[in-house]
Amino acid sequence: MLAERRWDFHLYIREDRPWSGTMVCSCSSQRALVEISQNYTEFVAGMRCLDTGDWIKLLQCAACGQLWRTDEWDKYQPLYALKLKSSEGWKSIDMAPLIKEGLLEKHGGVDAAICLKQGCTQHSLKGRAFCVDHFYEGLQS
Ligand SMILES: [Zn+2]
Ligand SMILES: [Zn+2]
Repeated sequence: MLAERRWDFHLYIREDRPWSGTMVCSCSSQRALVEISQNYTEFVAGMRCLDTGDWIKLLQCAACGQLWRTDEWDKYQPLYALKLKSSEGWKSIDMAPLIKEGLLEKHGGVDAAICLKQGCTQHSLKGRAFCVDHFYEGLQS
């Protein structure tokens, strides 16, 4: 009796989760621009590399077909992935404005204080000494 029930259970699992359904991805729940510095390996797992550029890669999710432009692995730089609608011109997309927008959001906006960079009149990022432009510049060097 017990053995029979275990068999039923086994069948149920197999039918409920067919092989095609095991390729679950999280593309649709991701935002357009994702910082992947902390989970790079997990992020690119299950992605096909369609093309490579100068420290950038064009990846396609094997499960849903979503295109992503990602940075090549570099442990000294923040790494980003950007959702793409098509692969056209993927190498020449200017990431800076998108990343700055993301930084502003991540920091929760700007402070009342002014950026410490000499001559800069912009407000600094919340909790930071520099404005989003100069903070971003610092990340690049
Ligand atoms: Zn996907
Ligand atoms: Zn500044």
